[in-house]
Amino acid sequence: MIDIDGTRGEGGGQILRTALALSLVTGEAFRMRGIRAGRARPGLLRQHLTCVEAAAAVSSASVEGASPGSLELVFRPGSPKAGAYRFDIGSAGSTTLVAQTVLPALWSLAEPSTVVITGGTHNPLAPPADFLAHAFAPQLARIGLHLAVHLDRPGFYPAGGGVLRVETGPAGASSSLSLLERGPSLDRRITSLVANLRGDIGRRQIALACAELGWDDSEAVIVARRDAVSSGNALSATLRYEHVTEVATSFGERGRRSEDVVQELAAGVRAYLAHDAPVGEHLCDQLLLPLALREGGEFRAAAPSLHATTQAETMARFLGPRVTFTAEPAGTVRVAVRG
Ligand code: ATP
Repeated sequence: MIDIDGTRGEGGGQILRTALALSLVTGEAFRMRGIRAGRARPGLLRQHLTCVEAAAAVSSASVEGASPGSLELVFRPGSPKAGAYRFDIGSAGSTTLVAQTVLPALWSLAEPSTVVITGGTHNPLAPPADFLAHAFAPQLARIGLHLAVHLDRPGFYPAGGGVLRVETGPAGASSSLSLLERGPSLDRRITSLVANLRGDIGRRQIALACAELGWDDSEAVIVARRDAVSSGNALSATLRYEHVTEVATSFGERGRRSEDVVQELAAGVRAYLAHDAPVGEHLCDQLLLPLALREGGEFRAAAPSLHATTQAETMARFLGPRVTFTAEPAGTVRVAVRG
């Protein structure tokens, strides 16, 4: 039984999700203490409980301590099985984070799987569905892993009710990743996703964002949805290069000025354009696990976040040391992952 200390490093939900994912893949049971000890409301919230339930469901695991607010969990995995799964977070908790918990167990099985998750699809502090589709999935494809992402219905804080549907497996030929350059720029786009809101909110956001970034109006689109259970707004910038795509996102909410939403988006875009490494802050921590489970690889990234270094530490508890960060002169890092 592997002991995981949830107070280490970033001290958030990612340690739990990674432990669940690797427990399913390796067949190793774990006990985790101090779950989300670094957070204002520690312990298991709805999103994390759904991750535990999902990991248990795909592998017929036995679990102790899976209750709201629990700080300690024991997880004994069974054998993951491909299938059609449905999970409902019951809040606006992030559907993409639940998906990332079970995907590693499913993507290498001989049969395909479909996972439908109800909750939030566009959450601050989690990968939005568009990030999964445009930044994460294409890199998986390069190492032989299939992931199709469908936004059946957007869901926002606090109502949730969004539906994310992902299809994965079986895996193709495994190959290592070499992602050292972005390659030429192919396309860039600002998207204002407006759900059950007046159209002028999207138009104003786009005009402000294009002016702030110096982009042309023709590089922006409004996606208006009427099928969400609540209103909601996400403003994103997608920067597509030959070898990588970056998605920066900022969120509108009641009482928040569009100017502030645009400033946050512009800060994200400028942070990515301030260096030449292909992998941005969030893709960095999310690529480590898939690479370690395939043939490994190498990529260049922005300076690693605490999420990335914590991810490498959690992975080491199940797999042994796999990740090396080597600083480069311009403040970027070269990340090597042993497969
Ligand atoms: P808590 O921190 O409350 O425990 P949590 O379970 O939501 O929360 P974290 O441990 O903070 O999770 O992990 C969040 C994950 O979401 C990380 O992988 C991080 O890279 C990713 N992420 C956060 N913001 C973005 C974003 N804007 N785009 C893409 N990915 C993001």
